[in-house]
Amino acid sequence: MSRRMPVFFVGHGSPMNAIETNVWSRGFRALGEAAPTPKAILAISAHWYVRGTFLTDNALPETIHDFGGFPKALFDMQYPARGSHDLAERVVRLVGEKSSLSTEWGLDHGTWSVLHHMRPEADVPVVQLSIDRRLTPAEHLALGKTLAPLRDEGIWILASGNVTHNLREAMTSRARGETATPAWAARFDTAVEKATSQHDGDTLAKIIATDDGRMSHPSLDHYLPLLYAVGAAGGEGAVKYPIEGFDYGSLSMRSVVIGG
Ligand code: ZN
Repeated sequence: MSRRMPVFFVGHGSPMNAIETNVWSRGFRALGEAAPTPKAILAISAHWYVRGTFLTDNALPETIHDFGGFPKALFDMQYPARGSHDLAERVVRLVGEKSSLSTEWGLDHGTWSVLHHMRPEADVPVVQLSIDRRLTPAEHLALGKTLAPLRDEGIWILASGNVTHNLREAMTSRARGETATPAWAARFDTAVEKATSQHDGDTLAKIIATDDGRMSHPSLDHYLPLLYAVGAAGGEGAVKYPIEGFDYGSLSMRSVVIGG
């Protein structure tokens, strides 16, 4: 029996955090240094948001540069972790028949921009789980709960999104040089913190439909990974927030570690 592993939800923010040394990337590094070394990592990234629940089954998953308009140094980044057929198959057994293996993806920047700091040696195998855009928040939470046994099998569950993610608002603030956090973002971030601290996945699945939730997430892709993390924690473990604060005014960079 391995030591029970932590579950992470990391607010990845701008892809530039992959190559910049800043308050966020230093936070990602500290997260990795504080955690026990896993056998493998199951990553759930906001950026693999498709019609189905798939597990990457590549021996050497491609580093996917799924963004535009950034410096060449970011496109040159590679995260050469191996994949893990064993973990991909294990997750299919846990999730059930609605999931399947895929070689159509790899590691997108939601995963590698964070793991570059958390596991800089890329020495642990990584499998990504896609987010089925057709499912309801409650269904994503239920799917996350099926992953809980992995915590006792030496696996990190690394969900990557952002607690608030309204890019249009964030880019408008940046263009105007505004850094103040709007009230809707602060309120939603606080509501998420409260529910997460209580392992209250049902509330997390509901508050996304409030006015603040809709303003914080015009699309659900960056919110849903949190439901996987809270579901996978299985209601067990101390909840900590080693990174808090906002980038571009309204983009919450809150990261959550549960247990471990
Ligand atoms: Zn993102």
